[in-house]
Amino acid sequence: MSELDDRSREPTPLEKNRALLEWLEYQVGQVNNRIRELEVAEDQERRRREAAHAALRWKIQPQRTTATALLHRGDCTLYPMDGGHISREDAMIALAEPDIEPCEICRPDTGLTS
Ligand SMILES: [Zn+2]
Repeated sequence: MSELDDRSREPTPLEKNRALLEWLEYQVGQVNNRIRELEVAEDQERRRREAAHAALRWKIQPQRTTATALLHRGDCTLYPMDGGHISREDAMIALAEPDIEPCEICRPDTGLTS
């Protein structure tokens, strides 16, 4: 039996199923890649939304023995925290407190008092 004869004949059921499996494995790989891409994109979008949300809010760093309590902008990196942000109204109330100082770096009082 020559090579040509071999190629011209019908594939056996076993060959068909091997080819099918190969194709399905390729498809699974493609779908897995797409899922990873979408997971990364979704994660980035979630972080972007959280950052945008934090940027419009404020947070209070509690008083410690050596330092007074500080008011920060929600996205100030000096006092990282997840959630627990306060509204503009609460930030204005906090600023009026004598024992809460605005952060010198992120200047949370800019645009808040005027
Ligand atoms: Zn700050």
